[in-house]
Amino acid sequence: MPDERPRVPGLRVLSVLRAEQVTPGMRRIILGGPELAGFGDGPNVKLLFPPRGDEDPRWPVQGPDGRPVWPPAERRPTMRTYTVRRYDAAAGELHVDFVLHGDAGVASRWARDARPGDPLGVLGPGGRVLGRADRYVVAGDHSALPAIGAIVEGLPADARGHVLVEVPGPEEVQDLAPPPGVELTWLFRDGAAAGGPVLADAVRALPWPDGDVFVWIAGESSSVRAIRSYVRDERGLERRRYLAIGYWKRGLTETTYHDEHDNDRDEDYYAAGREEAAARA
Ligand SMILES: Cc1cc2nc3c(=O)[nH]c(=O)nc-3n(C[C@H](O)[C@H](O)[C@H](O)COP(=O)(O)OP(=O)(O)OC[C@H]3O[C@@H](n4cnc5c(N)ncnc54)[C@H](O)[C@@H]3O)c2cc1C
Repeated sequence: MPDERPRVPGLRVLSVLRAEQVTPGMRRIILGGPELAGFGDGPNVKLLFPPRGDEDPRWPVQGPDGRPVWPPAERRPTMRTYTVRRYDAAAGELHVDFVLHGDAGVASRWARDARPGDPLGVLGPGGRVLGRADRYVVAGDHSALPAIGAIVEGLPADARGHVLVEVPGPEEVQDLAPPPGVELTWLFRDGAAAGGPVLADAVRALPWPDGDVFVWIAGESSSVRAIRSYVRDERGLERRRYLAIGYWKRGLTETTYHDEHDNDRDEDYYAAGREEAAARA
């Protein structure tokens, strides 16, 4: 029997409108539907994937104490975090780009097989964003490329800085057009495992920008931690001048990575978030 209680607040159930293969390893899923109306601003969403083959998906509902009540294990959707690559209110479309990293991942597999009409739960959007600065350093891996694409499109025309993107190889390069003062560098792993030193070495090799710098870092846990240590401990950046989040960790599902390591967010991440909120208020 479907649970008649209201769904958890903010949960939209959207459906796949169409899919586009951006590159061999990146698939764009375009979502829409009546519940997309009023979708707000923010970089990230939580996506809820129903179990494979569930024709009548169940969603978390609001319990008597206001807390979510999830469907039983065999009907429970799997939650993953993704980036709003683009939200087009006029067209009624939400674009999300998925790295296709194989059969092991619920989300990656779902995106590979997605067909028009497939339902998907969406919570959000939310999350911290790039701060304004004289110079930007943006560094991420393949999983961060959707966010980097959105960041690059949102930079002011007079922005200056560097964008570094680590991808498996040249076949994963996308057509990004940063402002003229921002240098975009593609780094290829050429068979090496993700989370190695490629991205961190490239950040270290940058001439360190003068003035007010903001550094944005996302990708596999090891390289995010290495780059964060570099900018915080060696370059002395204050916590509100960098934003570092591990997007995934080799060998762990996102559920475990989140529950056991909080995506490598540290105290400074939350303290900086509170300070940003206070500055906006
Ligand atoms: C704020 C935020 C925004 C994100 N935005 C995006 C986005 O827009 N697009 C995107 O593709 N990802 C994005 N990610 C990363 C994504 O949430 C993780 O990659 C997630 O683990 C994918 O879930 P899954 O079910 O496919 O694999 P899981 O079930 O979580 O993991 C299964 C296995 O696959 C491995 N794995 C997970 N991700 C990758 C990967 N990218 N490459 C290689 N192996 C991997 C895991 O280590 C594990 O061994 C984002 C993460 C965060 C925190």
